[in-house]
Amino acid sequence: MTIQSEKWRADFPILHQVVNDEPLVYLDNAATSQKPTAVLDALEAYYRTSNANVHRGVHTLAERATTQYENARETVRHFINAKETAEVLFTRGTTTGLNWLSQSLGEAVIEPGDEIVISYMEHHSNIIPWQQLAKRKQARLKYIELTEDGQLDMDDARKQITDKTKIVSLTHVSNVLGVVNPIKELAALVHDKGGVMVVDGAQAAPHMPVDVQALDADFYAFSGHKMLAPTGIGVLYGKREWLERIEPVEFGGEMIDFVGLEDSTWKELPWKFEAGTPNMAGAIGLAKAIDYLESIGMREIMDHEQEIVNYVMPKLEQIEGLTIFGPKDPKDHTGVIAFNIDGVHPHDVATAMDMEGVAVRAGHHCAQPLMNYLSQPATARASFYLYNTHADADKFVEALIATKEFFS
Ligand code: PLP
Repeated sequence: MTIQSEKWRADFPILHQVVNDEPLVYLDNAATSQKPTAVLDALEAYYRTSNANVHRGVHTLAERATTQYENARETVRHFINAKETAEVLFTRGTTTGLNWLSQSLGEAVIEPGDEIVISYMEHHSNIIPWQQLAKRKQARLKYIELTEDGQLDMDDARKQITDKTKIVSLTHVSNVLGVVNPIKELAALVHDKGGVMVVDGAQAAPHMPVDVQALDADFYAFSGHKMLAPTGIGVLYGKREWLERIEPVEFGGEMIDFVGLEDSTWKELPWKFEAGTPNMAGAIGLAKAIDYLESIGMREIMDHEQEIVNYVMPKLEQIEGLTIFGPKDPKDHTGVIAFNIDGVHPHDVATAMDMEGVAVRAGHHCAQPLMNYLSQPATARASFYLYNTHADADKFVEALIATKEFFS
């Protein structure tokens, strides 16, 4: 495995540099991932050879760009096992997908007094859009509790999800606690009560096999930049029956069928949701990133990250005064590890580790309700990906011990 991750690491030019006189160890993958040469080359090739606006032109470049853009949609469809490309919408990222839903799905299904259910471990992108919807519609926003070790409390989920629940929106993997939520079980619970299951897949799609049909999610949103693709491209998957039922949020060119003076009609799926010139290069880059991930295998990537967590957790547990948030059992943890050193502000931890060349994040991680829930103003967070090696894990532990000693 280590040899393999060394091989994968060689594909990422940015990782081969010195930061503060130390070789870079990049452990901020939950924030954004680095890009392999294959993706960088695909972006350049697109702009050098094929750039044109999609769908509208009949000239050769327009047809070439359109083919590449629509082929990218098929690559995504296959990656998440959607039934058809009509169910794959290109967005700017997870945040856009969730905002679209809070408006269009919210408009279609929420009435005053209805309930929307989320949890205490959500990212702000999966909180605020629903808060706004609840305010707009006089609906009630409810939060599922967490267990003591930071897992979703399924007993509480069964209590909170009722006949009044119209939308449940939950993260597949927490960007702080590293836990994987049982989406399939939750979707069954939600459907049993007649609700819609929305999934924030930002931290799951890059790291594990995702099969939207097996999960039975009604909607599933994720971001390209967290899975080796460029920024500004993301995906919102939706079941056809739902996408047919809800209205687009953005209007303009590309998404129309006929425009009259008083009224207009929309194109068929998926284009009805994609107003304006899309991010062609982004979609093509995303497809290249998926090709790269699939050439390794999503199960392989998941296993690799699990192995790194298994390797590093016991070492972290030996560091006195270090608190790890989320489950203590490494097998319940993805490659996201949030931690604090007693008496040292997480920003100081991240700054000191940067001096050792180790890039970790510090702050509330766009999860202020979770920070309050954990009674922490902030935490530090290391997050691993396929190109992180055991040597990276060792350097991380070393830098952490040096940081602790420096501040003691
Ligand atoms: N949801 C989760 C769980 C995340 O970790 C993130 C990003 O950190 C987002 C949503 C938002 O993703 P983006 O900023 O790419 O829209």
